[in-house]
Amino acid sequence: MKLIRSITRMQRISRALKAEKKTIGFVPTMGYLHEGHCSLVRKSVRECDVTVMSIYVNPLQFGPAEDFTKYPRDLNRDAALAKKNGVDYLFVPDDSEMYPASYRTRVEVDGITRTMCGASRPGHFQGVTTVVAKLFNIVMPDSAYFGQKDIQQALVITAMARDLNLPIKIKVLPIVREPGGLAMSSRNAYLSESRRREVRIVYRALTAARGLIRRGERRSAVIIAKMKKLLSTIKSVKIDYIVIVDPCGLLPKKKIAGTTIIAAAIFVDNVRLIDNIVIKV
Ligand code: AMP
Repeated sequence: MKLIRSITRMQRISRALKAEKKTIGFVPTMGYLHEGHCSLVRKSVRECDVTVMSIYVNPLQFGPAEDFTKYPRDLNRDAALAKKNGVDYLFVPDDSEMYPASYRTRVEVDGITRTMCGASRPGHFQGVTTVVAKLFNIVMPDSAYFGQKDIQQALVITAMARDLNLPIKIKVLPIVREPGGLAMSSRNAYLSESRRREVRIVYRALTAARGLIRRGERRSAVIIAKMKKLLSTIKSVKIDYIVIVDPCGLLPKKKIAGTTIIAAAIFVDNVRLIDNIVIKV
């Protein structure tokens, strides 16, 4: 595995790979890798000739009161995990090269960036689409791999790729969970053991929702009320949102029908965690 820091070097490598007719799979991350990231890498390794992973904590997607400076970072550990899972090139750019003083451009997707996490984190998705568009132009992948864990992000990037005619297949892979159901996240590292156990309630609330639907409940309000009640049993958990939305517009659905996303965002000890399930009836 080669560690690449420079944007022009990464572009030169990608151009050479393309000239050799090699397909490039790309896994963009913010590092502090876990099994969720590794599952994306292994899929890329299976499907593509060469796998590039980026590690970049993108300042543009963090709000002023968010955890940009304290976001967990450990490049040595990440490099070992990336190599073990089959990454060929680990691209780790610098802020000064990604956003020099002269930097001016933003990429923005309308509509679906305003609901859910977009409502709680203004500007977040503009930061995400801007950095992912840059990374796509640097790495020039054939396929890019994202997790359903950040389902809104995956849909926003799918919309960006479609709208801007980017010749990149966007692949969305299932959520990898810890035993007990907590969705793996780099931010879980902020939590004590006891808090980690407490926040399992989020997945329990999602599975309770699924259970209600399987038993015939179709009213979103009833399902959301049940989820809120469950979450309220854990004092440390504060709800940011619980929504039942359609996968196209990410707008609330009154009744469960067709493909439906049930998503939750919570705070515990000021750490924001998200999770979701997709239901088909
Ligand atoms: P992050 O480093 O948190 O920005 O995540 C990088 C990529 O890994 C994103 O596409 C995430 O959706 C994905 N990812 C994060 N956590 C998980 C998980 N538990 N299961 C599957 N994919 C994940």
